[in-house]
Amino acid sequence: MEYELRAEYAGQAPPGSSEARVALWHMTGVGETLTLCRRRLDPAAWTQPSSAWGTDAADPFCPDCGVKYLRMNVG
Ligand SMILES: [Zn+2]
Repeated sequence: MEYELRAEYAGQAPPGSSEARVALWHMTGVGETLTLCRRRLDPAAWTQPSSAWGTDAADPFCPDCGVKYLRMNVG
């Protein structure tokens, strides 16, 4: 399975608006909106390739998703 990062937003600004601000990056399957930590994110939310995981671009990153993603990669 391929993974990507998907943004959870702070405040009420809709994804795509200039007001949108990322609260936390989560890990999801590519094209999916259910995160590894079982949150449901907006289908229009920003995404990044999983290669961004662990870089400044993915900061702040959800600790629950990080742990689960690590386990899957190791296992
Ligand atoms: Zn998460």
